[in-house]
Amino acid sequence: MKTFPFTKPQLEAVAERYPTPFYIYDESAIRLNAQSIKAAFSQVPAFVQHFAVKALPNPAILRILASEGFGADCSSLAELILAERAGIRGEQAMFTSNETPAAEYVAARKLGAIINLDDESHIDFLEEHAGIPEIVSCRYNPGPLKTGNSIIGTPLEAKYGFTHDQLIQGLVRLRDKGARRFAVHTMVASNELRLDYHIETARLLFTLAAEIKEKTGIRLEFVNLGGGIGIPYRPDQQAVDYEQLAAGIRNAYDTIIVPEGLDPLGIHTEWGRVITGPYGWLVARAIHHKNIFRRYIGLDACMADLMRPGLYGAYHHITIAGKEDAPQTEVYDLVGSLCENNDKFAIQRNLPVIERGDFVIIHDAGAHGRAMGFNYNGKLRCGELLLRQDGSVVQIRRPETVEDYFATLVDIG
Ligand SMILES: *Cc1c(COP(=O)(O)O)cnc(C)c1O
Repeated sequence: MKTFPFTKPQLEAVAERYPTPFYIYDESAIRLNAQSIKAAFSQVPAFVQHFAVKALPNPAILRILASEGFGADCSSLAELILAERAGIRGEQAMFTSNETPAAEYVAARKLGAIINLDDESHIDFLEEHAGIPEIVSCRYNPGPLKTGNSIIGTPLEAKYGFTHDQLIQGLVRLRDKGARRFAVHTMVASNELRLDYHIETARLLFTLAAEIKEKTGIRLEFVNLGGGIGIPYRPDQQAVDYEQLAAGIRNAYDTIIVPEGLDPLGIHTEWGRVITGPYGWLVARAIHHKNIFRRYIGLDACMADLMRPGLYGAYHHITIAGKEDAPQTEVYDLVGSLCENNDKFAIQRNLPVIERGDFVIIHDAGAHGRAMGFNYNGKLRCGELLLRQDGSVVQIRRPETVEDYFATLVDIG
């Protein structure tokens, strides 16, 4: 069952102050979810979850997550600054980037973030531009050892990370250059709901940690399992059970890490989607009907606000405010106004009768939603609202204006 925290009359009151389209996030639900992750993962040692900022890059959200004890995972200068502004300091931030400009390594070091190198050649590059920090992490690409999945692709074709041998040699070189604390990271899944897949990733890193100790004497401080926990976008899918996931990881830890004498080894994650995805909605209104070879409902939001359906053919569940229990007698394509025929939020979807002015609720838009927006066709991205724990609604990002759109142009007459 997909939920939405407002009745239609409540939503009407919100929309009077903040016209559609807008994103809205539910603070209480985000906090409850964070707390259940923390509770489940209290059974693994030194658990740190760094929220992947790219999923929902808004300081108001980062501050909520920081107050629940989460850090940040940043991949660019702007994301480092966002995390810093939200009070996420020092090693609470990981800097997992690739093809990294020198200035971003300098900024990451200045902020004291844990730098996660993407390639062996970045060891010298980092030394040259920012110096070798005391703590450093390396990203592992397991190549043929992991199958990957459809969004992230197979590791053999992925641009990320060190190969196995490069990683072992890289850690030794980092130690020679003065690094004293070490970590290994991998990210081999995206939107993956299978529990076993994630437990297998932990096992892979634990085995590697043991091998690194044996071959180099380097004892890792932590392993970082990356992001990639899926969410049930479709109503018939099941969420990942945090207790089972933590228990599976703990079990792998007990069978691999403990007998090697490597306990305690910290376990870090950089989940994005599962942290905020289900607790954000894109709210639009139906503004047009069109009946040709198919029946279309035109919305006041478009792919510039949410590109996942157009980009990946991703499914987002859709409900109509006030018609949650109405019979789904109609078949529609729900479309935005871009001059691109893939600007469709739903294709041939069974829905109740939609009237002009109806609120169209697009679910599971709290991660990789507004963040992936763009300005093609001169479209202005919508704003973001937060439903606070006390029931009030505040704006945490205003909608873009035409002035924003023109702000970067240089008039040469
Ligand atoms: C995208 C990304 C994440 C977050 O992924 P989710 O699927 O949102 O959990 C974490 N780490 C890295 C390096 C990423 O690129």
